[in-house]
Amino acid sequence: MPGGISHRYRWRLPNPLYVDRAEGAYKWDVEGNRYIDYKMGSASQMMGHCHPDIVAALREQAGQLLLAADCHSREIRWSQQICGMIPSAEQVRFVASGTEATMLAIRVARAFTGKPKILRCDGHFHGWHDLVMRGTTAGSDALPSLGVPDEIAGLTLVCAADPDAIEAAFAAHPDIAAIIVEASGANYGAVPMPEAVLPAAQQIADAHGALFILDEIITGFRWSPGGRQALADVRPDMTTLAKIATGGMPGGALAGRREVMAMLDPSVKHGWLAPAVLHQGTFNGAPIVAAAATVMLDLLRDGTAQRQADRVATAIRDGVNGLMAGHGISGLCYGDSSTFHLYFGPHDGDAARLAPADLRGFDPALAGALKTALNRHGVDLMSAMSGVASAVHDKNDIVATLDAFDRAFWELKRDGLLKA
Ligand code: PLP
Repeated sequence: MPGGISHRYRWRLPNPLYVDRAEGAYKWDVEGNRYIDYKMGSASQMMGHCHPDIVAALREQAGQLLLAADCHSREIRWSQQICGMIPSAEQVRFVASGTEATMLAIRVARAFTGKPKILRCDGHFHGWHDLVMRGTTAGSDALPSLGVPDEIAGLTLVCAADPDAIEAAFAAHPDIAAIIVEASGANYGAVPMPEAVLPAAQQIADAHGALFILDEIITGFRWSPGGRQALADVRPDMTTLAKIATGGMPGGALAGRREVMAMLDPSVKHGWLAPAVLHQGTFNGAPIVAAAATVMLDLLRDGTAQRQADRVATAIRDGVNGLMAGHGISGLCYGDSSTFHLYFGPHDGDAARLAPADLRGFDPALAGALKTALNRHGVDLMSAMSGVASAVHDKNDIVATLDAFDRAFWELKRDGLLKA
């Protein structure tokens, strides 16, 4: 394995965490150290690790059918649940990852509108395929990867997450097929997004004969049972889903309005082509994934679990801000829903007024030292500066987490990495 890893952000010196066991809000590394986990399977394990109902469903399904790569009855119920919960979802097509969901959404948008370009917001994350590489790094137009030809990168336009910037981009480029927006703002809300962006994206795309794709791969079923769109009262043409939508198992889904999703329907002819958009994939809608997903979505239907996770994140944000003040550290702990993000530097109390590049441009030495210190004190975050809560973190976890932050801040000050 190049670098000994399977995902860029698992890489870490002297070695990454090796985790072989997890339960509820905790995971244990191979040396037996326990961590209160705020990574939670990259925000996929909303009901905690190895929730007993999900594990029971997986066991039952494993004894019956792992994968025939045929249609099956569980995917019917699964798609009905998604359409019943996500306000704009009239039809669903299952895929094998979140990255595949945004890739398919873009192909469908191009096919539907006959236009080639995609507009995306600075720093928003939509997976790792070629079509969304430009604009991944907040405040930079540089491609974060070799191997993406200019001809492909040139089809992706980047603008600020701001209604005027979106309008200006559409006005300047009549050949935009769709705008894609991360529903939380960049990096699950690390860069807060003005409320007006989502309705503006919908209206402006519509006025210019383009589509609005809402990336709810993090926010779907987390921000509310109907995702971010239910709270913002927007109805995107297509919604990308994964993580929680697939029960914390590998997979993803594209949901959308019937007329747009018809591009994927082999019974609908477009000239000589049926379907208009070709889409395949061995593991799409796999029964073993459906088994976990249908249970997870049942558990998240009434919003109780989301409210508990939100309460945990709020308590952590408040507690960490109190600790920063107590330590005399200039910084903020902020975030929406069940997330929290850290920023160190000058501010006026509102992360929304800081530039994206400042919020995301943290010092790698500080980030690494903070992660190591928190790990030493039994806490693991999702990335260096962010975490997500689940429905099973409790009061004791909050107390222990704040204690870990307190110790970590003390150590980082002692080592000169954080200035009082
Ligand atoms: N979009 C968003 C908003 C994400 O957070 C992610 C993954 O973290 C993706 C897309 C890509 O999903 P996956 O990692 O399943 O390919």
